[in-house]
Amino acid sequence: MARQNGFLVLNQFFSGAACRHPCRGICNSVKYAGTQGPCPCLNRRPHVCPSFFSIASLYSRRAAERPPLHKTQRKRKSLSPSPEVQKAVREFDAGQYRLYPDPDSNALRNAIAGMLGPGITPDMVFAGNGSDEVLSFIFFTLFDSDAPLHFPEYTYSFYPVYCGYYDIPFRKIPLASDFSLDCGALLEGDSSGLIFANPNAPTGIFLELPELERLLDRYPSGRPVVVDEAYIDFGGETALPLLEKYKNLVIVRTFSKSFCFAGARLGYAVADPGIIRALFTAKDSFNHFPVDRLTQEIGVAACGDPGYYKKINTEIIQTRGLFSAELEKLGWTVLPSRANFVFVRHPSLNGREVYEYIKKQGVLVRYFDSPGIAGFVRISIGTPDDMRQLLDIMKNL
Ligand code: PMP
Repeated sequence: MARQNGFLVLNQFFSGAACRHPCRGICNSVKYAGTQGPCPCLNRRPHVCPSFFSIASLYSRRAAERPPLHKTQRKRKSLSPSPEVQKAVREFDAGQYRLYPDPDSNALRNAIAGMLGPGITPDMVFAGNGSDEVLSFIFFTLFDSDAPLHFPEYTYSFYPVYCGYYDIPFRKIPLASDFSLDCGALLEGDSSGLIFANPNAPTGIFLELPELERLLDRYPSGRPVVVDEAYIDFGGETALPLLEKYKNLVIVRTFSKSFCFAGARLGYAVADPGIIRALFTAKDSFNHFPVDRLTQEIGVAACGDPGYYKKINTEIIQTRGLFSAELEKLGWTVLPSRANFVFVRHPSLNGREVYEYIKKQGVLVRYFDSPGIAGFVRISIGTPDDMRQLLDIMKNL
């Protein structure tokens, strides 16, 4: 298993020292940063450099890629957490903060298992401070350096960042020409695991369950397949029922999107109890900080109000359909989305030009510099009013 020396990285980060290795950071090695002598990594894969500047750029890249909201979405009540969550926040006794939270998040994991339904037990659930933290534990615990991790060329942009951080080799697998996942290509060659978002981001395209099952059937059962279901509640079909058959399947979920509390930081993984135990072991060995007390409580409250979330997410799905149809009438290419955003291309302008124009009108969308998707922008779906306003702006392009 490839592991980095966290102290080394942190020391370098805080001291501000550039990589002292003879390769001057060009090899981008986490393992050999700060060491002297001939470059030991010449025949190795490239990975992210942990020198001060590279670490700093990892963080700034993250900030730059944070998906912006429409200005009009910021104060929107209809996309707030459930009234049950708001009640739990109001009634929370701040005096409880003198006590540490439950390190195992037991009540929360019970509530999540209960919400997910039959077949899912609390020992199949691992909760963390946002799914980014959960993913971080998954990368640290489950992926190794024996062979590259495979993930699609265009998917959640944080996956290669974790690989750099934990010294995990990876291979980006091109999407098919229609931007769907190319399962055959994902399976080609030796890999130590697979990870992708489903629905994928930024495309919004969903890999149907029978196809996912075929992929799992063809993949070695001893290697992890991680399906990131951050956007699953916007029209996708969860892979949870496949957990019974595929013990190497790990499903990652977040409360940030469909549950509307990105600000509280809550995410979870669902998998075979053996995998969950491994994640807990890793967590307890280097970061035992559990989800805080208030977030555990409001997570329980949210799990108890699925009807509310179903309603607001159905509204988003409907608005997405109307917005997509209108954009198509205007000549835009709209990829078939099952997420709370659409990935769209103007007939002649590139993504950056579209972004600049829309931004001048006070609305933020997201563009991408990568050549294969530079024509596209990703637009979050808001209320029908938000989207009407945005359409009026886009009609002038
Ligand atoms: N997975 C995907 C595909 C995402 O888009 C995001 C957030 N942008 C995350 C995981 C992380 O979500 P969070 O940490 O807020 O739970």
